[in-house]
Amino acid sequence: MADCECIGGCPFFNGGNDGEMKSKYCKNNNLNCARYMVFNSCGRDKVPADLAPNEKERAYLIIAENM
Ligand code: SF4
Repeated sequence: MADCECIGGCPFFNGGNDGEMKSKYCKNNNLNCARYMVFNSCGRDKVPADLAPNEKERAYLIIAENM
């Protein structure tokens, strides 16, 4: 799969974070990324700066709150 379309402006990808998660999500499967899920469903402004790609439960709550 191609790189996530958000890589350029994503604070997680561009911060000093875990390279393993960047490889797993940003470079391979953004559909499983909590940040991408919120971005895709609710828009960029609803994605908390500190949301990590593996925090899917938190993503579901944010999406539910913004439906
Ligand atoms: S953290 Fe998620 S939204 Fe950000 S670049 Fe990686 S896959 Fe995309």
